[in-house]
Amino acid sequence: MHYIGRFAPSPTGPLHFGSLVAAVASYCDAKSNGGQWLVRIEDLDTPREVAGAADTILRSLEAFGFEWDAPVIYQSQRAAIYHDYLHALKATDLIYACTCSRKEITDSSIISGLDGPVYPKTCINKKPHKLSSGCSAPTILTNACSWRINVADASTISFVDGIQGELSQHLPTKVGDFILKRKDGIFAYQLAVVVDDALQNITHIVRGADLLESTPRQIYLRNLLNFILPSFAPISYAHVPVACNAAGEKLSKQTLAKPIDTGIASHLMVEALSFLGQMPPADLKNARLAECWLWAIKHWNLESVTEQTQIKIIE
Ligand code: GLU
Ligand code: ZN
Repeated sequence: MHYIGRFAPSPTGPLHFGSLVAAVASYCDAKSNGGQWLVRIEDLDTPREVAGAADTILRSLEAFGFEWDAPVIYQSQRAAIYHDYLHALKATDLIYACTCSRKEITDSSIISGLDGPVYPKTCINKKPHKLSSGCSAPTILTNACSWRINVADASTISFVDGIQGELSQHLPTKVGDFILKRKDGIFAYQLAVVVDDALQNITHIVRGADLLESTPRQIYLRNLLNFILPSFAPISYAHVPVACNAAGEKLSKQTLAKPIDTGIASHLMVEALSFLGQMPPADLKNARLAECWLWAIKHWNLESVTEQTQIKIIE
């Protein structure tokens, strides 16, 4: 099977058990299908980034024995590429500049969506000359406004997830016209991830279920870009459960998740495999890491991963 998978961590802190689970799942799925596996550092959101975290993550992955099949790419170095694709999307007439503040949106929105108030399309008919000067420039590199995509034509997006089953989402009421480039000039995750997955020829995405609800936005963008560039062909998705703490919060830097201890790598590998429903033998915890990997790839079965989107763990 032609298979290229990937792991795409955001360097907001060191690798924790939750991110290890996503890495192990995507790696085992790729390798058990004879595929390649790539690593991409999603360091677009510079204000949220932690200095040195990208290196720490890569060193932890190495210590765990992950091997990537191409040099790591960094989204922070790819703004010119995202710019070009945002420009390409302009051909659809679905992209528009927005000058609204968060408060204006909250005050005028009448629909509550997945991520808060749905943007009420206030700026959709404003001609560029009515917008503040920075946004009327012919280039979309300007920082004075955000850039949104009209989802009116999208209606309901459906897909079948390899783990979670069928998901349908009505983009106009659940998400609304979402941002592709922020006011502060940072390209949005939704655009960057679609562009990079296409340019890296990713065929399979295995990642945390916290991104399940983002998938219809990404399918929408992929489909639009595919009209312009056929390389944006469909992709297959599988969303693994996310590890939560006792309070039900996703493990993250914000919830003070413990960094993984590479000194007990075999132990953590076995825990990650159990979390993923793979039923590794208990004594594998004492085996060498290489043996854990052999077992994991040989026995990997996506169908054993539970359909839950969250599982509580004791850290
Ligand atoms: N960078 C995202 C995260 O760490 C993951 C993106 C993805 O896998 O699509 O949550
Ligand atoms: Zn607006």
